[in-house]
Amino acid sequence: MGLVHIAGSTYYVDSPSITGVYVFPDRSCLLVDTGSGNEYATLTLELLRENGLTVHGIFNTHAHPDHCGGNRIIQEQSSCPTYTSPLEAAFIQHPILVPYSFYSALPPRTLINNRYLMAPPSCVTDTVEMGRININSVSFQIIDLGGHTLGQVGIVTPDGVAFLGDSLIDPSIMKQFRFHYLADVRRELETLDFLENANFNYAILSHGGLVGDLAVTVTRNRELFQRIMDFVLTVAHCSRSREEIVARVVERFDLPLNRTQYYLILATVSAFLSYLCNCGYLREFIENGVLKFQTSSASINKVREKN
Ligand SMILES: [Zn+2]
Repeated sequence: MGLVHIAGSTYYVDSPSITGVYVFPDRSCLLVDTGSGNEYATLTLELLRENGLTVHGIFNTHAHPDHCGGNRIIQEQSSCPTYTSPLEAAFIQHPILVPYSFYSALPPRTLINNRYLMAPPSCVTDTVEMGRININSVSFQIIDLGGHTLGQVGIVTPDGVAFLGDSLIDPSIMKQFRFHYLADVRRELETLDFLENANFNYAILSHGGLVGDLAVTVTRNRELFQRIMDFVLTVAHCSRSREEIVARVVERFDLPLNRTQYYLILATVSAFLSYLCNCGYLREFIENGVLKFQTSSASINKVREKN
């Protein structure tokens, strides 16, 4: 774990879930995400101390525990302000909302006592809107990255370095795991359009780090989502329940499965189903007490044209 220089005053802590570091002239810094928990946060604070840095503030891209799990210990040691979007603030301050959103009610203990799904609760002092924001007299740009979560936001430093959270899956990770958690497919597709045309000097993903070619990465992600949607529409030629569609997706994309993964995949498939219903490609109905989805005839023709 080390401090990697990107450009100007912008660095990141090299780890499986990256923490961005913007160094102010007074040697305090803004952290972008805080990693997965107390142990990582303690190591990050040690690393900052070794480099003569103090924490001025925290910016969270979103409320998943590998992004805000270190907030609490850093806040206890520095009493720093913490910034994120209003929606993510609710989840960070009430972490039960994360497994609740996967399960749609109070979830079983497997999901609650789960450090991959619930971070220690921490405080958000400032909610951000899109556009410019001043932190410690330096101007940053806040960008909307909704899709992976409903309120995900990114931040661009004055050096033109964009921290993009989990808005994209890095192509190198995609080779091992051909899936990406999504809460809102329509907004994710809008985020892809935005990123494709963005003009950052550097783009950093929380998992994967510095993006070599942002446009290519966006294309790979769009292709992945299209493959999933085409597959769901094909599977749903015969009416299927959500759980049946999940089982077919797991098999087709060879996804590793445990209970936590199951709920993440179930939630993502649910996001695709609602998007496809809203677009008119699927219809939902109840058959013998089971909620089912079936491809509408218009979209069957669309899929046939493609294949
Ligand atoms: Zn995430």
